Amino acid sequence: MPSDETLVTCRDAALTFGRGSQAVVAVHGANLKIRAGDRLAVVGPSGSGKSSLLHLLAGLEQPTSGEVIRPEPLGTYDIGLVFQGDSLIPALNVLENAALPLVLAGRTEPEAQEAARAALGLVGAADLVDRLPEEISGGQAQRAAAARVLAQGPRLILADEPTGRLDHATATRLLDALLTAADRTGAALVVTTHDPAVAARLTVQHSMREGRLLESEKTS
Ligand code: ADP
Ligand code: MG
Repeated sequence: MPSDETLVTCRDAALTFGRGSQAVVAVHGANLKIRAGDRLAVVGPSGSGKSSLLHLLAGLEQPTSGEVIRPEPLGTYDIGLVFQGDSLIPALNVLENAALPLVLAGRTEPEAQEAARAALGLVGAADLVDRLPEEISGGQAQRAAAARVLAQGPRLILADEPTGRLDHATATRLLDALLTAADRTGAALVVTTHDPAVAARLTVQHSMREGRLLESEKTS
């Protein structure tokens, strides 16, 4: 369900960590427009700035220069970021983790858990509902974290190397789940990866090298 609705626009958006001689430019002026229904892969080696770019898109980091613009109606739960590292809350089981954003957004516990169960099923993690994060593998945690985002039904799904800790079969299944969820809701999907085979599953591929987003369109 592609539409012309723009969800995020980066205009010469840059992100620098530290100051002076310690400064690291993680993202050089990036120009990018993400519309509803887009399927974008950002491909680059470790340290090229992929996570930093996603954090800018998500609003977790503010650009050091340039702009990241989102339309006014886009709320916190309209953007879902699947973090690269561990992000599950240790004291909650997988089902409670996946349901938490919906509970925080004001949905009832049964409603939130129903959506969480459906999302866990979609990523092949339905059998993990009762487990604590310490009782599951890194790859299972990655799938649970993806389910937590999908359960929210965000309009922009940002997935940071979501297949990094998965074998080929589970990686394929997780990508299927992300694409299916995005197709169902008309959401935009942005996936970072260092794996060209993963990138090939998305419609458009941009590469990142040393903080520079290549093939990025100039937005006015
Ligand atoms: P990637 O996700 O492609 O591996 P990152 O966006 O994590 O790349 O990192 C890009 C660059 O920014 C790297 O040089 C990294 O060391 C640096 N960097 C990332 N986060 C921070 C931070 N919080 N403080 C200082 N430097 C950082
Ligand atoms: Mg990263």
